[in-house]
Amino acid sequence: MSTPKKTKSEEEAVSNFREYLRCKTVHPDPDYEPAIKFLIRQAEEIGLEFKRFDLVERNPIAILTWPGKDPSLPSILLNSHMDVVPVFEEYWTHPPFDAHKTEDGKIYARGSQDMKCVGIQYLEAIRHLKSNGHHCLRTIHMSFTPDEEVGSDKGMLALINSGELKQFNIGFVLDEGLASPTDTFILFNAERAPWRLRVSCKGNTGHGSLLIENTAGEKLSKIMGKAFEFRRAQEEKLKSNPQLHIGEIATVNLTIVEGGVLANVVPAELTAVFDIRVPPTIPQKEFEQTISDWVAAGGEGCSYEFTEKHSDQTITSIDDTSPWWRAFKGACDKAKIHVEPRIFPAGTDSRFLRAAGYQAYGFSPMNNTPILLHEHDEYLSEDVFLRGIDIYSEILPAMANVASH
Ligand code: ZN
Repeated sequence: MSTPKKTKSEEEAVSNFREYLRCKTVHPDPDYEPAIKFLIRQAEEIGLEFKRFDLVERNPIAILTWPGKDPSLPSILLNSHMDVVPVFEEYWTHPPFDAHKTEDGKIYARGSQDMKCVGIQYLEAIRHLKSNGHHCLRTIHMSFTPDEEVGSDKGMLALINSGELKQFNIGFVLDEGLASPTDTFILFNAERAPWRLRVSCKGNTGHGSLLIENTAGEKLSKIMGKAFEFRRAQEEKLKSNPQLHIGEIATVNLTIVEGGVLANVVPAELTAVFDIRVPPTIPQKEFEQTISDWVAAGGEGCSYEFTEKHSDQTITSIDDTSPWWRAFKGACDKAKIHVEPRIFPAGTDSRFLRAAGYQAYGFSPMNNTPILLHEHDEYLSEDVFLRGIDIYSEILPAMANVASH
């Protein structure tokens, strides 16, 4: 059992976290203004520069800056998104925007793991460092972006595509990772590329009582057979090798099937959509050939298109030749935490940043925590949250004091 809690007033960092969690930046209609107001207040309190970008209406981006001793050196960007995914309130034990804290210190709220915790941990670590007289060599910027959960077109992508990000002269990026159910912390230095595949099968039509040849259904079933055969092989690969994680294999999931007009009419066309995630370990050209072969197996009248196809496969270095890695790893050693590198299984803004040429690590300092992002009853323990601030208090100066190289 855990030790009994002393009665003490809540740490300011926790109160700030809970206040930020109460901002309803929730899709499909997020209101970012209360969050922006909150961030302006934090910037004033801590003594940080504040910049606001309104590249897309109702989707503000905030950038808070702690200038370094040598602002001419490439800076560190700490990225976090302000938006959160929708909730099904009836399944929550505590209302998802109350930031209720239980007796044992669990803070329940949408965004408590993904990823308002990280945004506040950046701020609180900098508040702590500044008040202890630290001044880093390099400038640290913190970006608070909208729209990440729905594709980032109005958020990070707008910032990159507008050219506005360039003015910050970024040398390295830290962005979100995932909670870890064990004592080990996870660091993500690459992501799988999301592909959305739309397959169309056209065939002979007619009365549902006959045995018509070359129907759309037969063709689609052949393609699905190939896709699921591949899926089974990947599943087998993952299950048979405990060293392997889901980020290192390809996943294929059938997500939408459409077509048909009546139960007794053989349809002229059927379409199927697949969500495919391609790890950087699989050459994309080769994999596209595989997909083309699946569709060819359907025969005449079958075609495909990608409605989304992320092509970047950049892996950010985690070997000792990288001064960023040495700084990050050294800080983790100093904080006495064990970090394991992996490939992020889903998507974050890091993939756009890496594609734009920036090096990025995905890291959310939450260990001994079940992965609850996008789930009902998302929560984070106060102790884990506070420990994360200590961890960033090691990592941030280590990275921002990397000498020019
Ligand atoms: Zn996230």
